[in-house]
Amino acid sequence: MSHLRNVTCRVCKGSSLTRILSLGEHPPVDNFTDAEHLKDEKRYPLDVYFCGTCNLVQLLDVVAEDELFHGEYAYFSSASKPLVDHFRSYADDLKSEHVAPGDLIVDIGSNDGILLQNFVGTHRVLGIEPSANVAEAARAKGIETESGFFTIEMAKRIIEMHGKAKVISANNVFAHIDDLDEIVQGVKDLLTDDGVFVSESHYLLDLVEHGEFDTVYHEHLCYYSVKPLQHLFGRFGMEVFNVVRMPTHGGSIRVFARKASGLPIENSVHELFALEEKAGLHSLARFADFQKDAEAIKEKLVSLVRQIRREKKKVVAYGAPAKGNTLLNFCGFTQDDIEYVTDTTPYKIGLLTPGSHIPVVSPDILKTETPEYVLLLAWNYRDFILEKEKELRARGAKFIIPIPSVEIV
Ligand SMILES: [Zn+2]
Repeated sequence: MSHLRNVTCRVCKGSSLTRILSLGEHPPVDNFTDAEHLKDEKRYPLDVYFCGTCNLVQLLDVVAEDELFHGEYAYFSSASKPLVDHFRSYADDLKSEHVAPGDLIVDIGSNDGILLQNFVGTHRVLGIEPSANVAEAARAKGIETESGFFTIEMAKRIIEMHGKAKVISANNVFAHIDDLDEIVQGVKDLLTDDGVFVSESHYLLDLVEHGEFDTVYHEHLCYYSVKPLQHLFGRFGMEVFNVVRMPTHGGSIRVFARKASGLPIENSVHELFALEEKAGLHSLARFADFQKDAEAIKEKLVSLVRQIRREKKKVVAYGAPAKGNTLLNFCGFTQDDIEYVTDTTPYKIGLLTPGSHIPVVSPDILKTETPEYVLLLAWNYRDFILEKEKELRARGAKFIIPIPSVEIV
């Protein structure tokens, strides 16, 4: 079975689900391919639904794990300097409030140890990473890492070997989990009674307010706001006690949960809940224009790129992140529109982008070549990249920023 469609909400199990966005059929965004394997490429519906009961925004189509990772998972967090800096400061925040030297910290979806590397030597750390080669990169840095997916069974094994954890984190993976009950129960089992579960996810309020529809992809099953998370943790005798908005990935929330304690809930939780209510996130009506707004960006971007091509000028794309592939496929771009995509990730270089089949090359090409236009797919690093590429821009390359609105700089 390579694809299933859920019929109930992942958080509340209700069936009051309404489709609010349909982006068409796409291959999974991390499935970079090559000429030999084009015939094997599979596409699945990319449709977003709203739950009328707990208000979780989610995908119901679940692509099987073995279709998603496709052998070697292409994403190493530590290849991104802004992310390395982000997780260093994240670790400092945890050290100042939630963990003491010697405590155990478990990171679910630990990637190459980008968070845990900041605790090596002072705290006990354990990473959990499903992708074998990424887990190996973490072990090479001295970070003990379990290969596999976190389950209640794995939590039991960890308790036997290491004891309970003071902090469990799950960053940019909590939204990728289909069976949330399994994870939350496992987290509750593994946490000490005064332990903290902390999770960063892309924030629905930013997605909606800035039209970030390209952050929708098959791996990204849930688009969280505070309200459904309170519902989820509440079902397991846990509570959300603090929330912090972060600029990461175009706008994220860092959510802190603990076992129900009777202690006061921080104001941040009430404030963000009220802000969501005011922004309409708890009502289906807010999403009425979701589809139309995405189509408007598509139309504008496609007509811009096709106009530039008619003038015989070159367009390339910068960065091949997950969301970039959603955008390329939604717009129907091919190599006729965009000659190549640059990306620093070694695994992607030499392959073709999924669906749009545009070659991925090393960014070194931009040291010698000056395309007239560069489409910035990693628009969340806009300021960082525009500064980094000032020499390229001085040579005459213009950047096209697609989100939140199509803009040339
Ligand atoms: Zn629900």
